[in-house]
Amino acid sequence: MKNPLIFYIIIILMILSIVILTPIKDVPKVEHLKTPLPAVNTPQYKEPFNVWNNVIVRVDDGPDIYTSELVKTLKELGVKNAIFGLIGRNIKNYPDTLPEILNAGYTIANHTYTHPRMHLKRVRAYYIRNPEQWRWQIAKTNDTIEEVLRSKGISYQCKVFCCPEVPNYLPPLLDEIVREQGLVPDKGWDIDSCDSVRNRKRLNAEEIAYRIDKLSNKNCKIKILIHSRKGRWSDELKEIDKILSNSKEIIARRLNNVKREPI
Ligand SMILES: [Zn+2]
Repeated sequence: MKNPLIFYIIIILMILSIVILTPIKDVPKVEHLKTPLPAVNTPQYKEPFNVWNNVIVRVDDGPDIYTSELVKTLKELGVKNAIFGLIGRNIKNYPDTLPEILNAGYTIANHTYTHPRMHLKRVRAYYIRNPEQWRWQIAKTNDTIEEVLRSKGISYQCKVFCCPEVPNYLPPLLDEIVREQGLVPDKGWDIDSCDSVRNRKRLNAEEIAYRIDKLSNKNCKIKILIHSRKGRWSDELKEIDKILSNSKEIIARRLNNVKREPI
């Protein structure tokens, strides 16, 4: 070709025609674009307010002076599942709290009559040698719960057993006695607030919120163990709720310098 300019123009025109004529894949048809798409609010992180639906709060060692307030707070926060492991001998001092627990939709569980320290080997050995004592601990508590509620016009049969200080394991003989009285042992917890563990620092609201947030991503139920007699729980639960209403990033930033044990 004599004129190189014409040659280049022809080449450019050829390239443009290829680009223009090649069909572009995955372009929606025009009629689809006419229909407005529904608005979708994609959350940036798991919706924290739903966390309480997924949390079980186990409150051991009551009833006590804090139980009523705690029931109200749990309800207010929207905690759907709470188990109150009651110590039989404490019940007569706070009988009005029992219907309050049930009216809020929560469970009353048997936590023995005198709260033997079952994490100690010698205590477990004592009850294995004296199973009738163990049977008494459970039956007496069940009777007390039922009697108090009956006096208030409520028929209730306790069905859950929360063993004092033993999250998962009960010697087979003692486990059998629990079951023969119609109770199912409540198994463990995911977050121990450590509010009654000697030599371990009680977790603060931020540390608990962090653990809830982290576990909630696994989409499973999370059980937290607290003890109402340690007080302050109403305030702390509200504080946890406040922290969870912020984003994960805020929790992470706040906790950045907090030394904590791995979950
Ligand atoms: Zn206890």
